[in-house]
Order: sequence, then C-alpha cells, then structure tokens
Amino acid sequence: MPPQPNQRKRVLSGMRATGKLHLGNFVGALDNWVRMQDQYECFFFIADWHALTTDYADTSRVKENSLEVMLDFLAGGLDPERCTMFIQSHVPQHAELHLLFSMITPLGWLERVPTYKEQQENITGKDLSTYGFLGYPLLMSADILMYKGDFVPVGEDQVPHVELTREVARRFNTFYNLRGNPVFPEPQALLTPEPKLPGTDGRKMSKSYSNTIMLTDPEPVVRQKLKTMVTDPARVRRCDPGNPDVCPVGDLHKLFSSKNTIAKVYEGCRSAGIGCIECKGWAADSLVQILAPMQQRRKKYEDHPRLVWDILEAGAATAGKVASATMSEVRESMGMSLEYDGSRNS
Ligand code: SF4
Repeated sequence: MPPQPNQRKRVLSGMRATGKLHLGNFVGALDNWVRMQDQYECFFFIADWHALTTDYADTSRVKENSLEVMLDFLAGGLDPERCTMFIQSHVPQHAELHLLFSMITPLGWLERVPTYKEQQENITGKDLSTYGFLGYPLLMSADILMYKGDFVPVGEDQVPHVELTREVARRFNTFYNLRGNPVFPEPQALLTPEPKLPGTDGRKMSKSYSNTIMLTDPEPVVRQKLKTMVTDPARVRRCDPGNPDVCPVGDLHKLFSSKNTIAKVYEGCRSAGIGCIECKGWAADSLVQILAPMQQRRKKYEDHPRLVWDILEAGAATAGKVASATMSEVRESMGMSLEYDGSRNS
C-alpha cells in the first residue's frame, strides 16, 4: 500500500527544456518518475534556465521546447493529481537561491564537477566559457535544496551533482542557521536503474547523434527507423547465427518485448532460424504497443493547450509556496529577512 501523503519522503527532479523526448529519456528517467508518484511527494520541473547554460544565444524556442517536454511528461504518465510539475523560471526563487549559493561556493568545487570539462570538450561550436555554464551544477543545487528534498533520482553520471549539493548545504548550514538549527537537509541520491538503450546506430540514444526514436514518432516512422537499425555484425548473411546480447535490436527486445517474443528472438537469432528483418518487425510491434497509449494521451493534451498551461501554473503556485517558505528561512538565517525590524530602527 502506498504511504499516506503526509508520510511521504520528498523527491525532486528536472529535465532540461530540449523539446520532445525520446525513448532514452523515457527509460532513463520519466518511466521511473511515473512509478514514484504514489510512493513519494514528487516535484518535477522543466529546466528552462538550464537550457540557457548552453543555448543562450537563441532563446526563441525555449518556451516551445518547455511545452513539448511537458506534453511528453503527461503523455508518459505523470499525473497532475499525483505530482507537482512546473517550469523552473516560473518559480524565480530558484535564481535568488542560486545567487546566494554562488557567494559561498568555492570556484574549485564547480571546476571539478566531471561534466564541466567533459561538456566543454564535447560540445563544439558554442562558447561555453561563461559564468552560467560553470555555475549550472550550482543552479541544480538550488533547484534541489529549495524543496528540501529527501531524494534526488539520478543516474550514475549525475551523482557528483548530488554530492556537490550536499557540500553546498553543509557549507550554508555552517555559516548560517535558524536558531541553532540547520536550514538545509542533505539530500540523498536515489540511484535509478539505467537500462541500456542504444540508438538506431548502436551508440547511446541522444539527439546530438540523430539516432533517436521519439515518443511522438508515428508507427511508420518507428518501423522505418527500426529497419535501418544496426544489428550484430556477425550476421552478415541470413544463414549466419547471431547473438541478441551484442545487438542493439536485442537490447530493445529486452526492454520492451514480452518474455515469449524474447525467447523467440534468442532462439531464432542464435540458430539463424529468423532473419533480422523479421526480428526488427517484432521489436517495432513491441515499441508501437508502448508508444500508442502515450501518443493518445499526448493528443488529448495537444488538443487542449490551455489545460496544459493551467497545470503548469498550478504547479508553479504549489512549488512557489514551498520556495517562498524556504527563502524566508534562508533570509532569516542570514539576518536579511524582509520583516521590518522595529526594535533596531526605532
Ligand atoms: S536476429 Fe534480431 S537480435 Fe539477432 S542480430 Fe538480427 S536483429 Fe539482432
């Protein structure tokens, strides 16, 4: 039985406003979030300010991209009755907390976050030697600590961000406190399973590799993408046996197909009893079954864009209440509350 609402631990997570989501986003995050809705008190946000840390030069699509992410949140099964969803910039307290954290965070802490150097090397064609890019893990710390979350669901590569958040909380609590009590709890990383989901070229599924299967891809597009998907290179001819464990299509089967189909794939691939075209057809069948209900839900919301905006506004109001309470405590702990202090000024 799920815990009662008031006993639930709080979870906070976000996704960058990069537009429509792909299957990798679904199995790596969204699917887990959907399962968490009844177990935890969940805040899920669309990180539009985070998108600016790399795409600051052209902001013309940021709002539209945020809405596309929201439509996929709803399509994937996030339910506004069971979780709070909002756009990061609609709760401007995140920026205030980020600013205050930037005052106390040593530069070295940010420079040693592994994704900082990695992304600077990998993302070419953009000048990422900006203050905002260096500070984005700190903005993430503000996002998390604002809600005093107990858990942050993350994959292995995001653990350093949660570690940084814990260090920032500790440092803040060392400098400032509320009548002897710490302001911020230290959140725990909730390691979520990261199933292997290759893109159509066999590399990790990513928009930057143009190898994605989108949650919105219609059936013919899914089938066409599957047809061109790479397979076990050992199967040069139809009569060559293969191994689904080294084939990206095999990985799709393991995630989305029934036990029966998976058994047929292993048997048929290893004995060369089936051809890759047939096997890819089965994988496409499984994917279409997963995607169809999501696409139906999405359509319902696409037809009522005002409803989607209303959900986001309600989410921002709920999140904003928590954020306001946190910021009051933060200001008070720093001796900078907004209250008129009559005794000192009289
Ligand atoms: S039969 Fe299926 S699992 Fe085997 S190599 Fe071909 S596509 Fe991959």
